[in-house]
Amino acid sequence: RIAIIGAGIAGAASAYYLASRGANHVILLDKERQPGTHSTGRNAAILRTAISDPVLHAMARESAAFYMNPPEGFSGPPLLNRTGLYLAATADAEEKLRSWITRDDCSMGGHEVATTEIHRRVPDLSSGLACAWSFPAEGVFDVHAILQGFLRGARAGGVDMRLGCSVDGIRAHEGRVKGLETHEGFLPVDAVLVATGGWAKVTPGDKKLELPIVPYRRHLLVTAPDPTLNSRGPAVWIGEDDFYFRPESGGMLMSACDTFPVKPEEGELSDSSVLETLGQKTRRWLPRLAESGAAHFWAGMRTFAPDERFVVGPDPRLEGLHWAAGLGGHGITCGAAVGNLAASWLYGPSPDHHCSKAFLPQRLLGIKASSSL
Ligand SMILES: Cc1cc2nc3c(=O)[nH]c(=O)nc-3n(C[C@H](O)[C@H](O)[C@H](O)COP(=O)(O)OP(=O)(O)OC[C@H]3O[C@@H](n4cnc5c(N)ncnc54)[C@H](O)[C@@H]3O)c2cc1C
Repeated sequence: RIAIIGAGIAGAASAYYLASRGANHVILLDKERQPGTHSTGRNAAILRTAISDPVLHAMARESAAFYMNPPEGFSGPPLLNRTGLYLAATADAEEKLRSWITRDDCSMGGHEVATTEIHRRVPDLSSGLACAWSFPAEGVFDVHAILQGFLRGARAGGVDMRLGCSVDGIRAHEGRVKGLETHEGFLPVDAVLVATGGWAKVTPGDKKLELPIVPYRRHLLVTAPDPTLNSRGPAVWIGEDDFYFRPESGGMLMSACDTFPVKPEEGELSDSSVLETLGQKTRRWLPRLAESGAAHFWAGMRTFAPDERFVVGPDPRLEGLHWAAGLGGHGITCGAAVGNLAASWLYGPSPDHHCSKAFLPQRLLGIKASSSL
């Protein structure tokens, strides 16, 4: 009997891979009535596999292969709109970007292009870029289709879903998990996977099992619709200036890449002071859109361990306790690989992934949470 706490991308993908391995008696719980209510439903939905940490890049590549070629019947609509993605830098930041993006183990699938290529596709973009890399197979996810695909597959494999059911505590006896205290009463289980996103720092109800995982708030804004914008335009990431954008709902979705440590209950409260920084960056890079006005402005949580690597696998402090947490800013991109890895640790066969041990929770034991990203 395995319980998964959290029906965001981490929990849903783990449920899917447990079901596809033949695990029965799996239950997926979420405190919300709607799966994906929190970070999974509040992000920029960009597939970006180029990451300066090779182990995260490997997870992103594995996931991207799944999303680009999902199993038959996984989803009606395509999971990915391959608009293309560019990573670019100004002269000041060029050396830093080059130091990792030229490495195959960080950015396979991309190639350097002239910056004029981005200007051709995004005529509104101001000059000032010194270098750019193109990832033509990447772009924008249909996150809803991905989440529903995982949940549908999990249900078809026998996973029981309980929504609107908050887990308040883990009951343990003689060093192993015995069950969960939930709003609906005690649920006996042998193993529990904590996939609670921004709430992952403390496993429900048990301070002694704390890990140093911190949620950080980030805002996104979508400008009012503008018929002159190309809805098939690419996603563009101006790395070291920390600004990214892509078309969305007839306007432009953009982020100033703000990063502020929060308590999870405050992680989705938007802070209008961020609009000033966002306005400056928009005037710098997309001046024509600076006066467009906002159609939507919201915040969500990106949750990190201190080394910014995911936390996936068994916790040596309590037999039966597992984690799929700390997915940071790459949780949708890497969700399939995270679910696959979490399911391997829970149900076998033992993961043979060359980087699977890099995510084990034991590396974090004894480290205090710090808010220094
Ligand atoms: C602004 C922003 C932009 C982003 N852009 C991208 C992007 O472009 N590409 C990308 O790959 N990633 C992006 N991310 C990151 C991505 O959204 C996250 O990494 C991912 O959604 C995390 O998924 P999760 O399942 O861990 O958490 P969540 O989706 O938050 O799921 C956790 C679930 O646990 C439930 N839960 C919590 N506590 C309990 C409890 N006690 N009992 C029962 N249920 C509980 C919650 O209700 C929630 O549904 C972005 C994030 C943000 C905030």
